[in-house]
Amino acid sequence: MEKIPLMVENLSKYYHERKGESVTAVKDVSFRVDQGEVVGLLGPNGAGKTTTIKCICGLINPSEGSINVFGQPVNKRRPLAENVSAVLEGNRNIYWRLTARENMEFFAGIQGIPAREARKDIERLLDMFELQDKRDVTARKLSRGMQQKLALGCALVKRTPLLLLDEPTLGLDVEASIDMRKFILDLARDHGKTILLSSHDMNVVEDVCKRVLVINNGRLVADEKIGNLRKLFGVHSYEIRIHGLLDGSLFREFKDLKVEERDGHTILTGHLSSSDSLYRLMDVLRENRAVVEEIKSMEPDFEEIFLKVLGRGR
Ligand code: ATP
Repeated sequence: MEKIPLMVENLSKYYHERKGESVTAVKDVSFRVDQGEVVGLLGPNGAGKTTTIKCICGLINPSEGSINVFGQPVNKRRPLAENVSAVLEGNRNIYWRLTARENMEFFAGIQGIPAREARKDIERLLDMFELQDKRDVTARKLSRGMQQKLALGCALVKRTPLLLLDEPTLGLDVEASIDMRKFILDLARDHGKTILLSSHDMNVVEDVCKRVLVINNGRLVADEKIGNLRKLFGVHSYEIRIHGLLDGSLFREFKDLKVEERDGHTILTGHLSSSDSLYRLMDVLRENRAVVEEIKSMEPDFEEIFLKVLGRGR
């Protein structure tokens, strides 16, 4: 039977602080990640993403629950199974005094990959990350983006089938962040990697993940395909252009609609949670003899969905 890359069951983690208080960082979280999936762990700052990933790596012990990687239990005594690599907070796993090339050689070496094979991989990774001209520069002299790429290179050179990436685009400029997203997609598509990545940036998750786990205050609040998340919350966004100026109070019952005046027009934008509310809005417009010039249906904004999932919808 094929082993499941990652299985997290009823994971809880409490941190005990000096004054005797305890912080619940993760509470009763369960999920699995299947072969070849790219799954996003999404949540606001302090939600519990890093704690979850650290538990999966075996860097910290769960207070409750269990973690299995390819069927093997992981904990502090048996950290990071040989078939997982993790890139934590961007660049922690690289050695500052080794050059880019030496870092990758080191990680391939500890994995027991023969030098000749490793050399080929390293050249490919240096090309891919555009680090060729920095190959002999020590890691501490690289820019943050380069360090992040190098950290990912060191994780990849180990050729593990499961990758854990904690905030892989944090601190990168827009271009580098887009490159990194493309790169992560390639890893899954062309190299069959299974990837769990955390981010508080919904755009990153939306770009690379097929499925998203939303975590808030340590609890898993959604585990859905991205498309389903949209459907689940039935978010339909519209922009409606009406000739002439209408009194905003007419639309008071539609809490999620913004009313603006633009060039002698009334513009309504926002989302309506069901087709019923769209019909109701049409009634209101008709009753007030409004002349509707245009109704545009817009792609729902992922950020709004995210806020709705967290119960902070506007
Ligand atoms: P961010 O996006 O800000 O990195 P996160 O989702 O990764 O956030 P965690 O770092 O897992 O969140 O933190 C979850 C909660 O646990 C937070 O309330 C945090 O303050 C607390 N926490 C994390 N590490 C410790 C620790 N070593 N001791 C005490 N509390 C901690």
